Order: sequence, then C-alpha cells, then structure tokens
Amino acid sequence: MASEVRTTCCYCGVGCGVIVSTDGQQVLGVRGDPDHPANFGRLCSKGSNLHQTARPLVQQQVRALAPALRVLRQGVRAPVSWEYAVEVAAGRIANAVQAYGPDSVAFYISGQLLTEDYYVFNKFAKGLLGTNNIDSNSRLCMSSAVAGYKQTLGADAPPACYEDIALADVVFIAGANMAYAHPVLYRRLEAARAARPEMKIIVADPRRTDTAAEATLHLPILPGTDVALFNGMLHLCLWEGFADQAFIAAHTEGFDAIRDAVRDFTPAHVAAICGIPEADLLQAARWFGSARAALSLYCQGLNQSSSGTAKNAALINLHLATGQIGKPGAGPFSLTGQPNAMGGREVGGMANLLSAHRDLADPQQRAEVAALWGVDAVPAERGLTAVEMFEAAAEGRIKVLWIACTNPAQSMPDQKLVRAALEKVDFVIVQEAFASTATVAYADLLLPATTWAEKEGTVTNSERRITRVRAALPKPGQARHDWEIAAQVARAVAAKLEKPGIRFDYPDPESVWNEHRASTRGRDLDITGLSYALLEQQGAQQWPYPEGAQAGRQRLYEDGVFPTPSGRARFVPTPYVPVAEPADARYPFQLNTGRLRDQWHGMSRTATSPQAFAHVAEPSLQMAPDDMARRGLAEGDLVHVTSRRATLILPVRADPGQRRGQVFMPMHWGPEYVSGRGPALGVNGLTVPAIDPKSFQPELKNAAVKVLKAELPWRFAVFAWVDEAQALRLQARLRSYYGRFAFAACTLFGRERCGVLFRAADDYAAAPALVSEIEALFGIEGALVLRYEDTRRGNARRMLVRDGQLQAVALAGDTAAEQWLRQLLETGADVRSLGRLLLSPSATAPQGFKARGKVVCSCLGVAEAEIAACLAAAAPGEDGLARLQGELKCGTSCGSCVPELKRMVAAAAQV
Ligand code: SF4
Repeated sequence: MASEVRTTCCYCGVGCGVIVSTDGQQVLGVRGDPDHPANFGRLCSKGSNLHQTARPLVQQQVRALAPALRVLRQGVRAPVSWEYAVEVAAGRIANAVQAYGPDSVAFYISGQLLTEDYYVFNKFAKGLLGTNNIDSNSRLCMSSAVAGYKQTLGADAPPACYEDIALADVVFIAGANMAYAHPVLYRRLEAARAARPEMKIIVADPRRTDTAAEATLHLPILPGTDVALFNGMLHLCLWEGFADQAFIAAHTEGFDAIRDAVRDFTPAHVAAICGIPEADLLQAARWFGSARAALSLYCQGLNQSSSGTAKNAALINLHLATGQIGKPGAGPFSLTGQPNAMGGREVGGMANLLSAHRDLADPQQRAEVAALWGVDAVPAERGLTAVEMFEAAAEGRIKVLWIACTNPAQSMPDQKLVRAALEKVDFVIVQEAFASTATVAYADLLLPATTWAEKEGTVTNSERRITRVRAALPKPGQARHDWEIAAQVARAVAAKLEKPGIRFDYPDPESVWNEHRASTRGRDLDITGLSYALLEQQGAQQWPYPEGAQAGRQRLYEDGVFPTPSGRARFVPTPYVPVAEPADARYPFQLNTGRLRDQWHGMSRTATSPQAFAHVAEPSLQMAPDDMARRGLAEGDLVHVTSRRATLILPVRADPGQRRGQVFMPMHWGPEYVSGRGPALGVNGLTVPAIDPKSFQPELKNAAVKVLKAELPWRFAVFAWVDEAQALRLQARLRSYYGRFAFAACTLFGRERCGVLFRAADDYAAAPALVSEIEALFGIEGALVLRYEDTRRGNARRMLVRDGQLQAVALAGDTAAEQWLRQLLETGADVRSLGRLLLSPSATAPQGFKARGKVVCSCLGVAEAEIAACLAAAAPGEDGLARLQGELKCGTSCGSCVPELKRMVAAAAQV
C-alpha cells in the first residue's frame, strides 16, 4: 500500500522538505514539500535524485548491514552479534579510560547526524567519559562562522532568514557558489531578482562560478584576501559617510578601534592585495553602504581558511558599521554546508562547545550541564578539534577512536597524516550506513547505522528552522539508529565504569530531543515552546521559540540588543593575514577546492546513481586556458598535481572561470574514485592541515601546488553497460586494481541504464593478463568479442555488440576513439552499418558523428550540443532561455541547470 511521508533532504543546509512516496519497503519517488517554508516544493538536482540512491538494488550493494569485528589488525572483519559488538566497544572504551584516562578516547562525528544522535554522543563523551574529545566534520564546514558570530554578536546564531533574500536591495555573496551548493535558495534569489531587477548582486569569489557569472558585479579576489576586501569596503563606507552612526552609538562597542584598524585599508592598497580594479571595490562599497537593506550570504570561501574567523568577523563589522542587521532584508547570513551543522552546534557537539550554546570556560554553565546529565562535572578544557584529533592519534595519544557518519579518510586535509593516525589508533570504531567509504577500511569494529528515509528525529537548517526527519522505511538488515547505538554502548560503558547517575535509557528519539529542549531553557536558542507534536501539527519552526511563544523568531536582533554582557554587538579588529601556504616558485599554483552541482561530499550516496555523473563525469583539475597554453597542456592531458604533501595524477580541463595561477579540483574526488600507484589519497592528499587559531577550521581551499605534464603514453579505457544490481560491486572490485597503474579512475554513467567506466594510464603497457582480467570483469571475454590487435604498436580494441548495439568496449594503448565509441554505446545507436570502422586502427569518428558534449540538464538529459543547436536556430532577439525551456524543456524541472543555461545563452549571443 503506497503512502507518503514528509521528511527532509539529507544534503545541504537549505533543509528542504521532501515528500517520500513509499510502499513501506522501498522509496517509490520523491517530490518537494510544497508546504515546507525552506523550499515551497522545490528540490535541486541532488534532492530530486534521492529516490534513485535509495533503491534496494543500490542499497544492497553498498550498505553496512551487520556489525563486524576485525580480530587481527590486518585481518578481515567477521560478522558478530550486536550484543557482542556492544560488549567489545564498551570494553575497549572502558579499558582505555581506566588505563590512560578519558582523553585517550575520541569521537569524530558528523553534521549529517540528526540533533538527537548528536546529543547522545555529546553526553556520552563529555558527561559519561569526561572528555571533550568530541568533534565533528562540521569543523571542516562552519566552525569559523560559529567563532565569527560569537566574537561579534555574542552568540552562534545566524540573524537573518530566507525571506530576507526577497527583501534585500543588495545581496553580497562571499565565498559561496550558491548555484551549486545551495541551489534551492539560489532559485529564491533568481526569483527575487526577476521581481525586482534593480536588486544588486555582488559576488566575491576567486573563480567565475555560475553564481559569479550572474552577478551584477563579480569581484574575482585573489584566494584568501577576503579580510582585506571587507576591511577595504568598511574603510570606504566610513570615509564616504555610509556609516550608521546612530546604530553604532546605540548598539555596538569597539567602534574607535575598528575605525583605526581599517584606516590603512585604502582602496589602492586593497585593490592591489585582492587583485581587483579599484573602481569595482568602490562600486561594491557604495552599493553596500547606500543600500536600504544589504544581505550577505557566505559559506566555505570564508570558513575553510586559516583566517576564517577573521573573515567572518570582518564581514560582520561591515554590517554593524552600516546598521545592516536586525531589519528585513539585511544581515550577515552564513549558509550552512551540511544538513544539520546547526543542530550539532545547538547541542554543543564539538570539542570547544557546550550544550545549548553554553560556554565551556564558564563554571556555572558547566555545572548546569553536569546537573542536567546527573554527573559531578563536565571537563573545562576544550578537547581536540578535528585536525588536532588526527594529529594526536598519529602520535599514539588516542587509543579508541569512534567515527560516526563521516569519512575522514576522504574529507580531512593531509590524508597521509590521517591514514597514519587511523593505523596507529588501537581500536577504530566506524559507525556507518555505507560500507563503501574509504574510512570503513580502517574499522576494527563496524557498526551498521540507518540513514536517510530510515531515521526519525530533527535537523536545523541555515535559518534556525527545526524540521522533523521521518522514517519511510524500516531499518535494513541489522542496522540501528545512530542515537540508539551510542546510547546502547554508553549504558554498557556506564556499567563498567560504575557511573549509574547518568542515564541513557531513551525509549525513542523524542525523549532525547526533550532532554535537549530542557537544556535550552533561558538560552538564546530557547526551544521550550516546541515539541514533536507541534512540529507535526504546524510544520518546521525557527528558534528561539520559548515556552508561551506563538511562533519562532524569524529575524534576530531587531531590538538592537545582542547576547553580550553589555547587550551591544562588538566590533573586532581583523588584520589581514595571507593564506597559510602561498604559491611560490616551486609550487606556483594556488589549489582551490569546492563543490560540483550534482554530487555531495565524499559521494557515498550521490555516486550510487549514474545520473549524478551526467553533469561532470570524471575527476579532473580545472585550469585557466592561458596557463594550459603556456605549459603546452591540451584538454584532457594527464598532469601530476603536487603539493608539499602528496602527488595526484589527473586529467586537466580548461576553465575560463579560473584566474591565471589558480587551479580548482572538486572536493568530492576521493581515493574511492581516483588513484594510482602509491598511497590512495584523493584530493585531500594535497590539501593543507593549517587551522584557524580561533575556529580550528582547516584551510581546505588553499594549497600551493605545481602542475606538470604526466608522460603516460599507454592508456586504457573500458566502459560497458552492466547489471545495475552489480554495478557498485564491480566498481568496488575495480578499486583493487588502482594501484597497478600510474593513474586510474572509476565512475558510473548512464540514465535509463547503468554503465561503469574504468580508466587507467601508465608509462608502459600493462601485462596482457592484467588487461584481460579487467576486461573480463566487464564481460569482455569469449568468442563473441570483436577484436582488433596491433601488437607492434601495443594497441588493442575489443568490444561486445548485442542486437546491433555496443554493450562493452575496451581500448588499450591508443584510446583516441573513446569519445565517439562511448557516445555510440550511450545513445544505443545501431552500429551494424559501421562495419570495419569499429575495429579499424583509425581514431576517426564515423561520418556525420556529432559529439553531444556533457549533459547540462540532468533531470531531462539535455546535452551541450542539443542546447547549442537550439540556440543557433533562435530568431534574432528571441529569448534564448525561454526557447531552450520551450523546445528542449531543459531547466524546467529542478532548475539547477538554469544558471549554466543562461551562461550558454549569453555566450551564444556573443558569437
Ligand atoms: Fe537538498 Fe538541494 Fe534542498 Fe540542499 S537545496 S536541501 S541539496 S534539495
């Protein structure tokens, strides 16, 4: 019997409501919840593809479904009962605490966990064990925003709301590619601008992203120069009379110091530091300063930095000086990366935070938490933050490391150190839904957890809105809920450590949430007026929502009172400090990392759907065309990308949106998808472990690298349609071959069907037996295989044709024919008429062949060539976007491709 369940998208911090249709055993489809105030029915390409990732034939290949224990360090894990798994976990933790003290245990958890999960883990670490060694992958995401808010406004609370986007005159997007990272919110911005074309959008971003390309003014600042930019804008606002003196006098403190601090940030000086025209700086400051309402939207470009806190504070200084806060359409509004980074912050689930925004350094506030939890005290010293935790582990100071719902062997910077740490720790517990992540390989104990569409609880989105997460499916296999596992092990540890006062006997997630709610009474995020029942009846609500309130507070600080001792917001001087690892003669490029449109984080979920690879099919390094030309690099050439920590081999792609001297690699490409001989490290083998001194957030977006052509003349590419129920297993199997080649990568492709692509390169031809072994995994073996061999040149082409259509193709040696052969396979073209061309040594495509290019609209499967042809046929003056939407329907479903379509329309108009 089909039914519908209202829940929340599990990806970004926009927090879209999703309606899941289900027969109780599987997800039949998803659509946006029209009543959810975050998205009003919209979903982006990731959200609208959620049902694909939840299909049983996908899940059965990648899920961890039973607890498993490794007996010997290098041995395989064997399934064990939950009872035994809990006993082992509790025993190892209790033993470590007794032998080495509580700080020998550490928890590394996740902004993807629900608030209830976070709460129990936090209570476990700080209350039961007495260690603050609990940190989260939110440290890689939002901790600079937390520190910036606390320094200036007194509390970790984004003051604005989504509705402000429609009310702003000027929207200043800094260090955020909203079109990719927060697409549904970006749709709201597009709608606001369409309704009020006079709205100004300023984007500060080193890259010309889709977001930047649509801005009224793009400031392509040099990496890491944001503080100089914001100080320079403040300087101009003060000197040009845009300061709101009445607001400054009534509601702030420290203004004299900030005025002195920005005195030297003259336009010429700032323009030189940031590498932008002085006139553009002036324009940005004037628009911002003179706006009736100016709203800043910002994300990882500010946060993932060794001066992330200063960047956040400098931007907030600008808002305070111009009075752009606490009123409709205005405010510094951090966009949270993960679905529940906010909830984690609310429960204090990080090494330097305490429950309900309490201060670890305050004895009274610690005592309140200890009393709530039934313990004598909670530790006062902050614990190890993410990078510090793995450094301590590598030094042997962590005996038990419990990792939940995150993949540090993909996502942490300086992967060599992370791998050393995971190997050094005596006992690694990995609590995961997906058995396919790189981190699971290090698990001594694997605890299977539930995931999206199976969990119950709450999350909080970027605008402080708490939404219910509901289960549409039963728990698969022996998987258990994250809070449930943590509580179960905590009870066993409490018994071993003889601490009966602290309780973990929660019957359900609501009872956990109610305890968290009690901890917020009287705090800035007071939610004592909320309940699961109210959330059920009235939908998602913003905090604060104290007892007796009729609604949550949409916007903070409208009364000009801030949660500081004086009630005034604080100006914080922010000196400009260059990036931790600037480019130099040896490492002349600045490597930036960021998101793709259709993938999420380490891709453990999104990459189970071949459709997610339609927009960007394979890992690559993006480089300015000028830089490529100067180095003699052509599109698709393999290059060594080398930082001070590691080398990665990748194809290079021209990106006109890159400034010279800068390169970009998507953050998603971990060792699961691209590797080669030597340690499999992925993109974060290259990144820098330098951290911000206040937020402890690492500088993931700036590493100095060199880029040299990789001379690997022997190429190998195999691609085939495969049984979708086996595709991910095949992909997992192919990973074991990565180390046999200098470069190797493996991804999926397809729309109605599922294809697997394996690609490799080396400086010499691989042994024929190895090639045959891999081909056989794709079914390319036996008498039906069509073959062409040129043993003298080392070239080979083998393929399977069924009913006139290509089923599988392997190219070894020379792979130049790959593009057209792959398109023939993907489009299901009848290849019978091609006869000998299929197997000729020529790389020439058949006559009349037209490359489709990449798929731009992944919902409708519309590719570049179709879009170009449609635009070429447009009448003079015709609205190109409307034509594309009318003729091809691209951009009419989720809308995520609309910015790219607009860019193509603009480019076509210039031809
Ligand atoms: Fe999910 Fe997309 Fe909404 Fe983010 S914008 S919550 S990824 S549907």
